[in-house]
Amino acid sequence: MTLFAHPDFDHHEQVIHGHDRASGLQAIIALHNTYRGPALGGLRIHPYPTEERALADVLRLARGMTYKSALADLPLGGGKAVIIADPRRQKSPQLLEAMGRLIDTLGGRYITAEDSGSNEQDMKTIAAVTRHVSGLRRDDSGDPSPFTAWGVFNALRCAVRHGLERDTLTGLRVAIQGVGSVGAHLARHLHAAGAKLVLADVDTQAVKHLANELHADVMSPLDIFDAQVDIFAPCAMGAVLDKHVCERLKASVVVGAANNQLAMPEMADRLHQRGILYTPDYVANAGGLIEVAWQRRKDYRHDSVMAHIANIERTLDEIFDRASHEQCSPAPIADRLAEERFSPGVA
Ligand code: NAD
Repeated sequence: MTLFAHPDFDHHEQVIHGHDRASGLQAIIALHNTYRGPALGGLRIHPYPTEERALADVLRLARGMTYKSALADLPLGGGKAVIIADPRRQKSPQLLEAMGRLIDTLGGRYITAEDSGSNEQDMKTIAAVTRHVSGLRRDDSGDPSPFTAWGVFNALRCAVRHGLERDTLTGLRVAIQGVGSVGAHLARHLHAAGAKLVLADVDTQAVKHLANELHADVMSPLDIFDAQVDIFAPCAMGAVLDKHVCERLKASVVVGAANNQLAMPEMADRLHQRGILYTPDYVANAGGLIEVAWQRRKDYRHDSVMAHIANIERTLDEIFDRASHEQCSPAPIADRLAEERFSPGVA
């Protein structure tokens, strides 16, 4: 396996493999771009079946962080780390400390944070051997989802202005796919703003409970794409916008928290052809990252964090305006705007 010929290699600045015989650590850290600042990105611990799969994941995720940080106006680059291990069986303090030492060798060019398979306690263990750890929260809440939901809510308001030419959410119908941590917070913001909700979740108890609280309708997870709504908000899993779903949607706007919503990049064009305004996911769902970035600052203030997150609306204004001018999907416009912000000499 060669790095430079890898399909997910995209001018990554540095990729390191780390091994520690005593703890069994097998890890890869990818720094995609550090032009705007140190590369912040989570540590994923996953039993990848092959090293090839781990490398593909870390390269893709690191690149995504560069784009997300750039459009969230953060002084950060993009990076990611993976440990090839089953977090339930193979995670140990020794393994995490060895990972911390590996992170430390990068001298702060990579800053780690929680991701799937790692939690706040793991970050504390790693922080014992390196100071390049983020997300050690002041309030011990350990939950970025209220911040992510606030960002998605602001993104939705902006998308409604551009896609539906409406300044208010009152009376608009929104279908939310997935009412977990982010989806439930988003639903409460929308309810408070006067929107009418249609909810779907594979967790039938959770969705029933929330629907009662917010006087919302419920649809099955299989049918939610057909809901007669103005806005579709994917807040469950990635790759939801495939060629079937793109044909079925009745909504005029798509905006949600899920990562990597487009099953293939071409789906953005299909939505555009159908007159559906797609909101680039990594712009809309950056609220949690913005809050983690603020945790690193001495002047952390809740209202400053919320104001920074609300700026997502301004970034999207620019993206939607450019997309409208160029008569194309906002997805490639967001990518280009991010690239202008993290590539010296590109503008
Ligand atoms: P979560 O696990 O708390 O909620 C996901 C919900 O989706 C669950 O209630 C689950 O039952 C439901 N679900 C799963 N499959 C479904 C299906 N087929 N149909 C309907 N519902 C289904 O996760 P979360 O933290 O709320 O995150 C939601 C999405 O947003 C994820 O894609 C996540 O990667 C992304 N995201 C989250 C954050 C954050 O701050 N939590 C930040 C950025 C992106």
